[in-house]
Amino acid sequence: MANIEITNVAKTYPGNPPVRALDNVDLSIREGEFVALLGPSGCGKSTLLNILAGFEANTEGEVRFDGGPITKPAPERAVVFQEAALFPWLTVFHNVNFGRRLQGSTRMNYEPEVNAMLDMVGLTDFRHAYPSQLSGGMRQRVGIARALVMQPRALLMDEPFGALDAQTRLTMQELLLSIWQKHKTTVVFVTHDIDEAVLLADRICVMSARPAHIAREIDIKLARP
Ligand code: ADP
Ligand code: ADP
Repeated sequence: MANIEITNVAKTYPGNPPVRALDNVDLSIREGEFVALLGPSGCGKSTLLNILAGFEANTEGEVRFDGGPITKPAPERAVVFQEAALFPWLTVFHNVNFGRRLQGSTRMNYEPEVNAMLDMVGLTDFRHAYPSQLSGGMRQRVGIARALVMQPRALLMDEPFGALDAQTRLTMQELLLSIWQKHKTTVVFVTHDIDEAVLLADRICVMSARPAHIAREIDIKLARP
């Protein structure tokens, strides 16, 4: 069964004039698949990702996750943004630990899980540091650890490496691939960088504006040796 099922989805932002951000979007994403949403700025990629996250409601059509409608954010669909949006007054450890508590658990301390995630993203030595003491790449690694500690079924990433320099971006892309190969979490990855989409994804969904829809799909996995 498909993990994410998007059927005939449209989104119109109210306004004068209203903005038709998505039109007639159909997309089916299988469990464990790594899908890139590729397209120029303003074509509706973030809008689609925000609908999958439950931050925005679609105005037409249906969006289902594991067969059920998406109505609000949930830890099973963790989000990583372009800027990691960390709490500046919390250490690296507590930023990641807080992600786990967002699940609504009464357990206050997830030390073993948090430490395992910090180890995975290479930040064990920085667990007591504050976000302002970290580089951009390191902050994004905290954001990824905070999302993964929730053991999400799907990881929704909105240009997560877009603000990083080229060298750091490459390091982060390799890190993300190694994590994905280990966890096989479904990933939906928004980018306007075609090289990044080709490097990371099993399948590229090319979005185009006017009307904002998925113009074509390219199966990368079939093309790989
Ligand atoms: P992308 O992520 O591909 O750059 P977006 O999903 O951010 O595209 O935006 C798609 C279109 O919807 C753009 O024309 C943008 O200006 C518009 N838009 C996005 N968010 C809002 C909003 N909250 N209110 C009104 N218009 C919006
Ligand atoms: P990135 O963050 O993703 O890999 P950087 O080039 O910014 O790339 O950092 C490379 C290394 O330099 C880090 O892994 C860390 O060991 C060290 N480093 C970066 N920023 C700091 C800092 N503020 N304090 C101490 N060490 C740092």
